[in-house]
Amino acid sequence: MSYVGPDFDPPQPRRSPLRRPLVVAVAALVPGALAGWLLWQATGSSGDGGGSGSTAAAASSSSAGAPGTSNSAKTSAPSNRTASTGPGDDDKVPSPSASRSESRSSSDPAPSGPLKGKVVVLDPGHNPGNFRHTTEINRKVDIGTNWKECDTTGTSTNSGYTEADFTLDVARRARKILEEQGATVKLTQDGNRAWGPCIDERARIGNEAKADAVVSIHADGSGAGNRGFHVILPGAVHSGGADTRPIVAPSRDLGERVAGRFVRNTGSAPSNYVGGGTGLVTRQDLGGLNLSTVPKVFIECGNMRDSKDAALLTSGAWRQKAAQGISEGISSFLSK
Ligand code: ZN
Repeated sequence: MSYVGPDFDPPQPRRSPLRRPLVVAVAALVPGALAGWLLWQATGSSGDGGGSGSTAAAASSSSAGAPGTSNSAKTSAPSNRTASTGPGDDDKVPSPSASRSESRSSSDPAPSGPLKGKVVVLDPGHNPGNFRHTTEINRKVDIGTNWKECDTTGTSTNSGYTEADFTLDVARRARKILEEQGATVKLTQDGNRAWGPCIDERARIGNEAKADAVVSIHADGSGAGNRGFHVILPGAVHSGGADTRPIVAPSRDLGERVAGRFVRNTGSAPSNYVGGGTGLVTRQDLGGLNLSTVPKVFIECGNMRDSKDAALLTSGAWRQKAAQGISEGISSFLSK
């Protein structure tokens, strides 16, 4: 099935006239998915989602230049451990498979680390219980520019692995990684409510937390053959209760960093069906973005309806890489 409902519409492949250097490079280098990935790897640090331009690229260059720094090298993508640019993070970024990640629960006090004092909100798209609460989730909510359904059920793979289960799992993995760097991490839902929250509440949770960064985690429900990830950036809207103008630029920076680190860690290519090969799409119709007052992006980690992408999305090892990529993008943004 294709996208239905509020934060689940087919993204429009809108291209921003403002292309940061990274994006220009990626757009130019990514005529095709795999070729783009290989070129991205070949260009090394320029693949950093360095929205802040040369400074970020230079910072990550020195870090990523240390070959295999304590990296488990369990993935084909190099430098997934060296990617974070946060000060002193070389010994803080956990290995994706590190058993020590099991040793601390999210309720423990935040340790010291490069992200100490930073607040991150992770928004696992949809809720496994939405299927049983269609009346509640079909209720319309005000997103400033429009009224849209509270939430949707999300999509699933053809074999029945749901987007809601996927997003919650990735969010929990990312939370663990970010907490180990000292961040305070809040999830909009943690499998602890029957349905929802609605998209307006999801935005409000980030706003009220005064989050330094928010990432809404999703997987797509597009046609077979459509593959790859894309990051959705808020477009400028100013209508009703929505005013994204202050967050457009920082959200783009966040999104570019998340995209770059996601490629580096997962080896996934940018979407071959939206975004023109950049992995970035700007939208003005998503309540979760329109109502945000803090830097926020969505990431569609892959297409659940494509068998090859589904094979990745259903793999716990791959989801750990996805969580690592998202976390590193956030960490890079917060450490700039
Ligand atoms: Zn979704």
